[in-house]
Amino acid sequence: MTAPRPNSHWLVTDEPHRLGSGWLSGTIGAVLGLAALSAAGSLRWPQLLTLPELRPHLPPWLATAALVTAVLAFVLGTVSLWLRRKKTLGAIAVGAAVAALPLLASAPDLPTANAGGALGLGLDVFCVQLIVYSVLFVPLERLWPLRDQPTFRAEWWTDLAWFASSALLVQVTTFLVLTPGQALAAALPNWWREHLAAWPLPVQFVGIVVVSDLVQYWVHRASHTLPWLWRFHAIHHGAEAMDWLAGSRLHVVDAVLTRALVFAALMTLGFAPAAIGAYLVFVAAQATFVHANVRWRLRWLEPWLVTPRFHHWHHASAVQNVNFAVHLPWLDRLFGSHHLPAHDWPPHYGLAGGQRGPRGFWRQLLTLPGTERRGAAITFRTTTPP
Ligand SMILES: [Zn+2]
Ligand SMILES: [Zn+2]
Repeated sequence: MTAPRPNSHWLVTDEPHRLGSGWLSGTIGAVLGLAALSAAGSLRWPQLLTLPELRPHLPPWLATAALVTAVLAFVLGTVSLWLRRKKTLGAIAVGAAVAALPLLASAPDLPTANAGGALGLGLDVFCVQLIVYSVLFVPLERLWPLRDQPTFRAEWWTDLAWFASSALLVQVTTFLVLTPGQALAAALPNWWREHLAAWPLPVQFVGIVVVSDLVQYWVHRASHTLPWLWRFHAIHHGAEAMDWLAGSRLHVVDAVLTRALVFAALMTLGFAPAAIGAYLVFVAAQATFVHANVRWRLRWLEPWLVTPRFHHWHHASAVQNVNFAVHLPWLDRLFGSHHLPAHDWPPHYGLAGGQRGPRGFWRQLLTLPGTERRGAAITFRTTTPP
């Protein structure tokens, strides 16, 4: 009798994750390797791969840090290649580390690196975000997992491609997001804006959360209702596994439209840039957290702030068109779309009726699903009050 064959997918494997299995060394090595390669690329081609705003702030120690990171990634990757039957993680770690070295060796000195054009891809943004989010969320998902699924689960690379594309294109999307709001704010009278901008920052922050979520709620609900919007938003709902990375699967049209309308509202009302900046950190952290594969109930928070369980129900394949809010669940109570069973988590995620959207980043970006809405009729469900 032969031993059961491990899952044959090139990345997903049934091999154990325990210490000594080469998983931890491979995972840390792969993340460090990709970080070193991103840093090396940013140093080698700063005018192409870094944002003009961040370019002058590339620290002088970045080259040394990237070199140390690459060496660590190489060592950890080699350990993983030695211990693990599936070589993908080790190969990524060693490959990225080796690829980073010639880039670092041929990178210009920093004074030259600080020069450059006004356009650039946000590889530096990608690098920083990947490290920060991995450090914050991967340990949470390993320590308190809702579902027993590997960190590198099926379609992980698809979602990483969405994550990378949003970071790399951040300059273009920021321009598209801010321009309508700037034009609108310039065209409208501004007698109230100086009053609003003088409010205490915490008050402005709360105001921004409420205004943003009112806009987000209705744009999101429209995205589920209007066929031409749904074809873009359906990409987000094609995800069949929830984790911190799954929320990145957001079609660029969907993301830009929602954010442009939110910013148009915020800029027209005239909130201070510092308060908007604090909100951006908050929304990035919360939007990532609510997709995480973390079993925390946060019962005391559920009525007031969107939690993972609330948003996981938005992704449930069996229940459609509920829980549209991004921050404030009581908006769904107010508008009749709230669905939160007393204890359960949804059994499955994805599109209704077993439909499967296009697979892979490029197909999702370019081949949009049919314009039909899922389900024939729109039914908005409410929970019975506790
Ligand atoms: Zn949705
Ligand atoms: Zn989501």
